[in-house]
Amino acid sequence: MKNVKLAGSYYELGTHLGKMIQGKLHLPEADAKKLEWAAGCEDAMEEFTPGLLEELQGISDAANLDKARLNAIILYDQSYIKSFSTASDQHCTVFTVPGKHSESGKPVMARNYDWSTEVKEYFTMHYISPQNKMRNVLFTDHYVGGFGGVNETGLACGCATAAYYNGDLKPGIMLSMAIRWILDSFKNVEKAVKFLEKVPLCEGNIYLLADRSGMSARVEATPYKVFTTFAQDEFLIATNHFQSEEMKDLENQITDANAHTTLTRLEGISNWYKSQKKPISIDSIKSILRDHKYGVCDHIKGVIYTENGDRKEEDLVSTLYSWIAILGNDELEVCAGSPCKNDFRSKAIFT
Ligand SMILES: [Zn+2]
Repeated sequence: MKNVKLAGSYYELGTHLGKMIQGKLHLPEADAKKLEWAAGCEDAMEEFTPGLLEELQGISDAANLDKARLNAIILYDQSYIKSFSTASDQHCTVFTVPGKHSESGKPVMARNYDWSTEVKEYFTMHYISPQNKMRNVLFTDHYVGGFGGVNETGLACGCATAAYYNGDLKPGIMLSMAIRWILDSFKNVEKAVKFLEKVPLCEGNIYLLADRSGMSARVEATPYKVFTTFAQDEFLIATNHFQSEEMKDLENQITDANAHTTLTRLEGISNWYKSQKKPISIDSIKSILRDHKYGVCDHIKGVIYTENGDRKEEDLVSTLYSWIAILGNDELEVCAGSPCKNDFRSKAIFT
C-alpha cells in the first residue's frame, strides 16, 4: 500500500496530485452522458464540498488535462454507476466496538475492504492536512476522495455499498467525496450525519460513523431517502444490505441466489461479538476480520488465462485490505492485502 502526504489549500492538494499523474494519464473522450453527469456532480460539490471542487481544478491544471474530461472520469467512471447491476463483487464489512467492551476502554472501528483484485495495486493511504480543516488519514484508490479513515478528532468513517439498492442513481455527492469531506470537516458523528442527510447523494451506500465520545451511527443512504440508526456505546455493523425496515422498499429482495455473504457476515460478526466474555482485544478483532466461515475475509475465485495461455485459478474479488482504529489513539492497525494471509502493522496516523 502506497502512502501520499498532502498539505495546503485544497487547490494545492490538487496540484500535488496533478503532478503525480502528469504525463501518465491518457484521457479518453467523454460522451455527452458522462459530461452531463459530471456537471451535475460539480454543481452539488460547489454547494456542499467546495474545497474538493478546487482540488479537482488543481489536478487538471497541474497535470495539464482537460478539466471536463478529467472530471468525467473522476465523477462518472469512478462512481459506482457501473457496479450496481451485481452484488457479487460487493463484500465490504465495517463494525464498531463500544469503549465499554474494548480492552483499551476506547471505541474501535474495524473495516475490511473488498473489491476487484485488479485495483489492489492502486490502494493508497492519503495523509491529508487541508488548510484550516482537520488532518485525516484516508484509504483510497481514487485521485480525490476515499472509502474510509479517521481524522485528528477521532471521528472515523467506513462504508459498504448497498448492493441491493433498486432505485436510480443521481448526480450529486458520490460516496468517496462524502467520506473525504466528512473526515476533513467534522468533529463528531452528529455533524457528519447532518451532512449526509442534507446533501444530494449519488448512490446507495451504508456509512458507518463513530467518534471517541462513544457515539456511532449507521447511515443507510440513497439519493431518495436516508435513514440513520444512532447508537451510544453500542455495537453496530454494516454489510451490503439495509438493516432498517424503513429502507427495505428501496432494495431488491435478497434470495439464496443473490445473497452472497452479506447476511452471513452480519450474523457471524454479531455472534462473535455476543460470544466475547471479556473486554475485546485488537487480536480478537483481527481474528474476526480473518474469518472465512462467514465470509468476512472473502475470496471469490475465477479462471484467468496467462499470456502463455495457461489456465489459472485466482482471486477475482477479495478482501484487499483491512484497518482497525482505536478512536483517540495516534496509530492505526493496517493490513495491506487479505488479512488471512498478511500481518497487520501499526501506522502512525499523522506523520
Ligand atoms: Zn481470507
